[in-house]
Amino acid sequence: MQAITRIWTPVDFNAEGKQTDCLRLPHSTDVSAYGWIPIPLVCIRNGEGPTALLVSGNHGDEYEGQVALLNLARMISPSDLRGRLIILPALNYPAVVAGRRVSPIDEGNLNRMFPGGAFGSPTQMIAHYVSEVLFPLADVVIDLHSGGRSLQYVPSALVRPGRTDEESARLRKLLEVFGAPISFVTDGAGGGGLTTLAAAAQDKNIPALTTELGGGSTLSRNGLELAEQGIRRVLKHCGILPRIVIEKARATRVMKVAGRSAFVYARSRGIFEPAAKLGEEVQAGQVAGSIHHFDWPMRPPETLHFEASGVVACRRAPSLTNPGDCLFKVMADAG
Ligand code: ZN
Repeated sequence: MQAITRIWTPVDFNAEGKQTDCLRLPHSTDVSAYGWIPIPLVCIRNGEGPTALLVSGNHGDEYEGQVALLNLARMISPSDLRGRLIILPALNYPAVVAGRRVSPIDEGNLNRMFPGGAFGSPTQMIAHYVSEVLFPLADVVIDLHSGGRSLQYVPSALVRPGRTDEESARLRKLLEVFGAPISFVTDGAGGGGLTTLAAAAQDKNIPALTTELGGGSTLSRNGLELAEQGIRRVLKHCGILPRIVIEKARATRVMKVAGRSAFVYARSRGIFEPAAKLGEEVQAGQVAGSIHHFDWPMRPPETLHFEASGVVACRRAPSLTNPGDCLFKVMADAG
């Protein structure tokens, strides 16, 4: 059955060969009454086989995934393939153009809007199209993120907790194949919870892997190399790129985010001075950092502590900090 959506594309997902065009997201404005926003799309198909949906630019200011998918889209010919690749390197295109996490059109944070709405805001329409048109085509989903402007991450991959032992094993296998130095299992508490692309994919029983490859609105060389190799390994593992040359995955350290105590938040406004490095092992009670109060020169800085022991997974990138900003997140071994 055809899903109800206002988004359309001349790309025929069932056609053989390599097609490059875009999704057309209707957007009627003062200067373009019947206009649409182009969301770049590459579809490559060669006969029967599984389909991988590869996405970046879900947040516009996260770059390693965008570059990895642009490189992959140019490199792959239909003859390399068995099955189908659907690649969207700039999924929230208005946010990508603006270099922002959220869309400047509706302030929509795409990875907080799933499963979206067919007749909602532009960003809600994108989420809905992914959920209702693309997910039913997909056997595996990779959604490439980084920390964006406000966070810096250790290069890592993540999945949601499985709802059954079988699903947990399948997701864990994806993490092992992708081969990030650190992998973690998280339900998104503190992040997007059930409003993410990965949660919507899980709701449709499609295995989904997300990454955090770097951050701070710039491109990490290590993060890009991990994305390129990890994607190839997953596509080879799924049988979609059976002959592609890959570097063997190194063992990944599987960790978990232990609820809200894993996060350190600012309680005051000021300049954040971190006391721990990315990837450092920290103990509960250890000093995490200080907030210096430029409004009150004589007031001592606020000292913050880690509530949980673990490895520092991410830290706030900008120094200027307000109450409620996330400063750190730590992960513990999954065991
Ligand atoms: Zn992101």
